[in-house]
Amino acid sequence: MRQRRLQLMQSLFDEYIEMYAARDDKLTARFSDDFSGYAGSSDILVTSKDEWIKITRQDFAQVPERIRIEVLDLSLQDLAEDIIVITAFFHIHLPVPDSILSQETARLMLVFQQESKDWKIVHSGISIPYGIAKKGEIYPMTSLEERNRELESIIQARTYELAEANNRLEKLSNTDGLTNIGNRRLFDQMLQKEWSRGQRNNTPLSLIMLDIDHFKLFNDHYGHLAGDDCLKMLANGLSQSGRRAGELVARYGGEEFVILLPNTDLQTALDTAKHVHQLIQSLAIPHIKTNLGIVTVSVGVACLLPSDKHNALELVHQADTALYLAKSAGRNCIRSAPPNGTQI
Ligand code: GH3
Ligand code: MG
Ligand code: MG
Repeated sequence: MRQRRLQLMQSLFDEYIEMYAARDDKLTARFSDDFSGYAGSSDILVTSKDEWIKITRQDFAQVPERIRIEVLDLSLQDLAEDIIVITAFFHIHLPVPDSILSQETARLMLVFQQESKDWKIVHSGISIPYGIAKKGEIYPMTSLEERNRELESIIQARTYELAEANNRLEKLSNTDGLTNIGNRRLFDQMLQKEWSRGQRNNTPLSLIMLDIDHFKLFNDHYGHLAGDDCLKMLANGLSQSGRRAGELVARYGGEEFVILLPNTDLQTALDTAKHVHQLIQSLAIPHIKTNLGIVTVSVGVACLLPSDKHNALELVHQADTALYLAKSAGRNCIRSAPPNGTQI
C-alpha cells in the first residue's frame, strides 16, 4: 500500500518535470481551479488558475526549446489521503550560454490535491535565486546577461593585471639588482636563443667578455660602496654605448660583463670591443692602483658559427680563454679566441 503511494508520488513528480522540461502545454491541464502560488524570479503572487496558465505559457514562450532539469534533492510527503507535497531542489539548464543560471539551485514546492479521480496542482512555489526578471521574462535573462558581462569584464581586467604582474616579475628576475642591466639568467637564456637562431640562419654569433682590472684593489682602497658605484657607472656606460638592436649587455657575475652580438663576425665584434674599451677609459674613474690611474678593463672576444659541432657554452669558454690571455698580457687590452687571433 505504502509502496503504491510512493510510486504515485514519484510518478506525479516525474510527469510534472517531464512536461515542464518538454515545454508541454498539457501541463496547464494539471492546475487546480483553486490554485495559488508564486513564480520563479518574477516575484509575482498568483491567486488564480488562469493567471498561472498565462505565466506558464510566458515561461514556455521565453525559452521554447526543451530544457534540462538536474534534480539534486527530492522530498515526497504524503500529508493526507488527498494531499501530497513535493519539494525539489534542482539546476535548470537552459539551451543558452547560461553558466550562472545552471549553477544556481532552484527550489520548488508543489502541492497536489486529489479532485474527483485526478491529482491537480493546487499550489506551486518556485524560487530561483539568480536575479530579478524584467517585465515579460520568467527567467531573468537580461539580468543574467548583465551579470555575465560584468564578470567577463572583471576577468578581463584581472587577466590583464596578472599579465602585467608577470611581465614585471619576468623583468625583475632577468635584471641585476645592483646595476639594473640584464643578469646572468637573462644572458644564459639569450645565449641559447641566439645560438639556435644563428644555427637556423647560418649567421655567426660573437661574445665580448669584460673584466675590471685589479678590482679587488679598488675595493680595498676606495671601499666596497665605491666599488658598487663603479660597477653601476660601467654598466650604465655599456648599456648606453649605442650598439645595434638585438645586442645584449649583461652582468655575468662579480666585476665581469658580457656583450652578446648576434649575426656579428669576429672583426665587427673586435671593433665593438675596441669601442667599448675606449668608452670605459673615457669614463676616467680614478683607480690609483693601476698604471693609468683610472679604471680599465681586460677584454676577451670570441666568435663562432653556431652548428651541431659545438654548443653555446663553447663560445663562453673561448671568450673566457681570450679574457685570460688579455689578463696575462698585462691587462687593459683586448684578445680574441682562438689564441692566434687578432691582438690589439
Ligand atoms: P684582475 O685584474 O685579475 O681581474 O683582478 P681583480 O682584483 O679584479 O680580480 P679578483 O677576481 O681577484 O677580484 C674581483 C673583485 O671583485 C673581488 C670582489 O670583492 C669584487 N666584487 C665582485 N662583485 C662585487 C660587487 O658587487 N661589488 C663590489 N664592490 N665588489 C665586487
Ligand atoms: Mg673577475
Ligand atoms: Mg677583475
